[in-house]
Amino acid sequence: MIESRDSFDELHEECGVVGIYGVDGASRHAFVALEAIQHRGQQACGMAVCGSDRRLRIRKGAGLVKDVFPDDSFSQLLGDSCIGHVRYPTTAVGGRENIQPFSTTCNAGTFAYAHNGNIVNADHIKSSLEDIGHLFQSTSDSELFAHLIGMRARDEGWAQSIMSAANQLDGAFSTVILAEGVLYACRDKYGFRPLSIGRLEGGYVVASETCALNAIGAEFLRDIDPGELVAIGPDGIKSYRHSQHPGRYMCAMEFIYFARPDSDIEGCNVHEFRKRTGRLLFEEHPVPADIVVGVPDSSLSAAMGYSEASRIPLERGLLKNIYVARTFIQPSQSMRDLGVRMKMSPIRSVVEGKSIALIDDSIVRGTTSRQIVRLLRDAGAREVHMLIASPKYAWPCFYGIDTGTSDQLIGADHNVEEICEYIGADSLHYLSEQALLKASCRTTLCTACFTGNYPTALYGPE
Ligand code: SF4
Repeated sequence: MIESRDSFDELHEECGVVGIYGVDGASRHAFVALEAIQHRGQQACGMAVCGSDRRLRIRKGAGLVKDVFPDDSFSQLLGDSCIGHVRYPTTAVGGRENIQPFSTTCNAGTFAYAHNGNIVNADHIKSSLEDIGHLFQSTSDSELFAHLIGMRARDEGWAQSIMSAANQLDGAFSTVILAEGVLYACRDKYGFRPLSIGRLEGGYVVASETCALNAIGAEFLRDIDPGELVAIGPDGIKSYRHSQHPGRYMCAMEFIYFARPDSDIEGCNVHEFRKRTGRLLFEEHPVPADIVVGVPDSSLSAAMGYSEASRIPLERGLLKNIYVARTFIQPSQSMRDLGVRMKMSPIRSVVEGKSIALIDDSIVRGTTSRQIVRLLRDAGAREVHMLIASPKYAWPCFYGIDTGTSDQLIGADHNVEEICEYIGADSLHYLSEQALLKASCRTTLCTACFTGNYPTALYGPE
């Protein structure tokens, strides 16, 4: 018997970043770009803008991009370069001191920075800096960048000091930095989080996802490589390498769940990837069904693929109410049921009497899957076969995805039959790791939450 788990049954991305160089009205473009990556973080957001006077103007706050940046805020955010950030907190609580971008002044000048990801050796680096007298103002691991960069910037220059910082920090970071009118953008040596460059009106844009480039009409130029630092200034783009690490470990969950379907990650379109997982899911697990239903929204592309491969009609058996807050704290079972009913609603005339191939992207804690299966049964579904377009999620993430701990993951200590029984489905099937890689058209990904094979050292217990 599996106990009811935490109701907070969704994976959450930590953050998204944007940088703009040499574009008039940079803050308005950044606003649109940040809205395009709002799905990566809804708790807080901010911008640091720099004009010809090299002064940084910063505005940030809790809430959505549209709330933090009302129309009249742009008159105070004048400049042709800026960085921006949307935040979902994982390593630190959501206090205002942790909202990015951060800015700091060292003996080389003032700079602003923002990052997406999670530094796994943050505690080690922080305590060694505290030992030599450094004081920290936030609990965010991002602040480590400031300390490490500030120690060397005057003697070695910005690019060298950023590379030195990137070399010392282990884990996931896609980082944007604005220093002395130059935009720097850097990815960790494993390449966990995406970061792309585009061209806009004679200037440049970097963003966590290409959907942000599309939203502002920027032309995609290329992805920033794992272990690469780019400096974008008056002389165009300069590229440096802070690491020669050979591995490429893009987070598989970016493809499976987080990224927008209209984004391309390292040359692979997210919608097309998800469709391929659906097709491969059918090859591996054909089930007897009358209709295919995808759990909205992130599983709709995989459901399309399953339907195309199986020739079983794709139906809209579940509707999602997009106006319900994503994080809905439900203290009791009845409130949890109500929470799912508020978010998701079955179309009775579609599902009644049908055997359903229900496609979802992942099962984290199992509570939502259980409630969706119950919703479909209550609406008259005859059979519900649950098909997951990824392998069994069994290990926590240390690279910026909020999964909770192992004891909150149903896949950590239960086999497929036990999970199937818990969620109340007629059958349950997962995509294999081989099929996942095949769908991504590449030979390596970070798949640590499925396999427990973490690309980095973990520097601590668990
Ligand atoms: S552990 Fe999972 S969620 Fe975390 S980076 Fe790797 S694939 Fe992504």
